[in-house]
Amino acid sequence: STFTGLGLNPLITTHITTKMNILKPTSIQRASLLALLSRDGSSSSSLRDAFIQSQTGSGKTLSYLLPILHDLLPLSANSYIDRSIGTLAIIIAPTRELAKQISDVLDVLLKLRLRPLDAAPDDEEKNDSRLTRWLVSGLLTGGATRAHEKARIRKGIPILVATPGRLLDHLQNTSSLDTSKCRWLVLDEADRLMDLGFADAIKGILACLDGSRKLALQAVKDGRTMERRTILCSATMREDVQVLAGTALHDPIIIKA
Ligand code: AMP
Repeated sequence: STFTGLGLNPLITTHITTKMNILKPTSIQRASLLALLSRDGSSSSSLRDAFIQSQTGSGKTLSYLLPILHDLLPLSANSYIDRSIGTLAIIIAPTRELAKQISDVLDVLLKLRLRPLDAAPDDEEKNDSRLTRWLVSGLLTGGATRAHEKARIRKGIPILVATPGRLLDHLQNTSSLDTSKCRWLVLDEADRLMDLGFADAIKGILACLDGSRKLALQAVKDGRTMERRTILCSATMREDVQVLAGTALHDPIIIKA
């Protein structure tokens, strides 16, 4: 079984095959892509939150990054995205190390070229068919100074990877982080998020995201809702994780390998 049969955007399939040597989906990736890919003609009501139950090493990072990229790609192809659009996806990880690992995978993914290799010749130096021109990723983990992180935020971070404390800090204190159009929220390694005492920080983050979305909706007033999908990943279905899922997820699909 390949990625193509699952409906993944062929530009993404080509990129991960040729640049990352990822040829076949792992079982959790297969299950996630089947559940999470938005396909042509799908109504937005079919877009559901998800609980991904999987171990580290199972390929869980790509199981949520690929659907997110698949969703954001058409926006960038239409040049709808520039950095001023605000943050479109937020990935929360329990530790700096994990956040850095996720961000590294994301940066390789975002080197994707928006035009197929066999398309009209492209001025390589201008680099303008690279997704990275629109979809910039950024880390907020407290690894840099707060002032440095604020400067990054002001430039715009469409895809954000963060640890909970620092993210909440910026949401509450840095008005330049615009999450009103956020389409994806991922809580990775939710069991470790709980172990490390981040339950309240996550609740605070959810409140900030819901608040900014409500404000945006009031401003738009055309009845078009900005759907946000939340994905929670955990190795176990422990009780405290289920409580978090109850707060963070609305009617989730359960995805298991
Ligand atoms: P993860 O569980 O997301 O931490 O991934 C574990 C490792 O598996 C990483 O080093 C990935 O690069 C690798 N990996 C993820 N998906 C695949 C795949 N479909 N085929 C081969 N390797 C993969």
